[in-house]
Amino acid sequence: MNTPEMKQFTDLPYTRPDMEALKTAFKKAEQQFEAAHSAAEQIALIDEVQKLKSHYQTMQTLAEIRHSIDTRDGFYDTENTFFDESNPFYIEMTNSFNKKLLASSFRKELEKELGSHIFAMTELDMKVFSPSIMEDLAEENKLTSSYDKLIASAEIEFAGEKRTLAQLTPFMQDQDRATREKAAQAYYGFFAENEAEFDSIYDNLVKVRTRIAKKLGYKNFVQLGYDRMGRTDYNAEMVAAYRNQIYREIVPIAVNLRKRQAKRLGLERLYYYDEPLEYTTGNAIPHGNPDWILANAKKMYAELSPETDEFFTFMTSHNLLDVLAKKRKAAGGYCTTIPDYKAPFIFANFNNTQHDVEVMTHEAGHAFQAYQSRNARLLEYVWPTYEACEIHSMSMEFFTWPWMNLFFEEQTDKFRFTHLSGALLFLPYGVTVDEFQHWVYEHPEASPAERKAAWRSIEKKYLPERDYSDNDFLNRGGYWMRQGHIFSTPFYYIDYTLAQVCALQFWAKSLSNREMAWADYLRLCKAGGRDSFLKLVELANLKNPFKDGCIASVVPACTKWLNNINDTIL
Ligand code: ZN
Repeated sequence: MNTPEMKQFTDLPYTRPDMEALKTAFKKAEQQFEAAHSAAEQIALIDEVQKLKSHYQTMQTLAEIRHSIDTRDGFYDTENTFFDESNPFYIEMTNSFNKKLLASSFRKELEKELGSHIFAMTELDMKVFSPSIMEDLAEENKLTSSYDKLIASAEIEFAGEKRTLAQLTPFMQDQDRATREKAAQAYYGFFAENEAEFDSIYDNLVKVRTRIAKKLGYKNFVQLGYDRMGRTDYNAEMVAAYRNQIYREIVPIAVNLRKRQAKRLGLERLYYYDEPLEYTTGNAIPHGNPDWILANAKKMYAELSPETDEFFTFMTSHNLLDVLAKKRKAAGGYCTTIPDYKAPFIFANFNNTQHDVEVMTHEAGHAFQAYQSRNARLLEYVWPTYEACEIHSMSMEFFTWPWMNLFFEEQTDKFRFTHLSGALLFLPYGVTVDEFQHWVYEHPEASPAERKAAWRSIEKKYLPERDYSDNDFLNRGGYWMRQGHIFSTPFYYIDYTLAQVCALQFWAKSLSNREMAWADYLRLCKAGGRDSFLKLVELANLKNPFKDGCIASVVPACTKWLNNINDTIL
């Protein structure tokens, strides 16, 4: 495929795709594919269809990025809506072609040329969809948006102003304990006040997902949830054994870290509202403004490796980063790619916290991988499934450790201590979210009260030190209502923990043999999405997280590093 000339991001031309022309082109390719007399002819048609997809996705991505940069720009708002409405038709076109692909009489030759992974993924795509579930899918979408709307509707009176949930975060980390407690009560108070509505949304989601699963011939939603996530080489049983490893190996470390935190804060008991505050002296913050952070990132990536130097120069010289918090900009951070130009794009909202540097290295990890795999023949092979994607980003956060002094100067140890201990503290919470969802979809008839009781009992197992004091709502098991993934993308959450376990392996390896660790990481990034999670793990010389003993193997390096730091003086 010829790559059009790369320009500055703002100069990349946008035109709305002609859906009728696209449909005709897809149909023509499909008919020729069916009538083809050789694998070579079919492969040429697959390349042709890739071009159609690349162009459509390029226009869609440009509209999405520009809309998120300025949500009030009327032109891209309209274009964004156009894609929301056109996507079902686009998916219909690609599905229709994919059916022919799977039925090809030259499948063996095609697999030899393109790899078998594309076929495994396409088969799952087909398995999780049938025209008979169209209405149920629409209902599921409606319910997940009503969760988002309810969260966004929060107007909480606090410290003399009406605030959103996100705006309560700084108060929840306040150094004054009474302020922290009040802010936490206000935050969870919003969920308690709307408990019946959150319960009803989730109850309906569980019911509609169970109905979809039954229509598609599944026993319950669990396996469908896995199939939707594109998991081709592990199952619920393996995930259950993995959670057990976290329970045995990581829970005791997490309990100990919370004890150290209580000691640092000079508290007898750490209550739930104390957890967000790490140090009485405040968290580490980058010692400069966003331009200064980017300038240091440029220096860091120039020194880190020739590959990161080339990558980051490409990003900055074409303005492929938009990281300043600005009015009219959408919230959050993400990384995406613009396929026709083989160009990654990074979006963030810096707010002068430690998070700015973490977001930058995290999203740069995603972008670096996409840049390394940009020449993949199939678009489907640029990114892997989510648990593999997060290895690139979470590991990049650790590979950049030697340069963190550029951003944090004398607070570098504080930053690293928070980063590593945060990675470990996250694992028990991550598996709590996962085990809860397995329970929910295995018991679709359970009442909301039973669900909350199940959450609380799973939470007690993995987060035994968590103390909700006298907060009735949290003691009854309502904490999970704040976790949007549980509503929007079932079974996604475990992916972050699997990737974290892999990232910790890269970190430990980089301490003993940095060159080898980087070579393994680079190989993984170049592979992009051409294989399944466990095959990629193997390719990267990582231990399989599902194999007993994997998690135990990363523990010694972590505890050694954490024990060498005197956190009471940070
Ligand atoms: Zn990520």
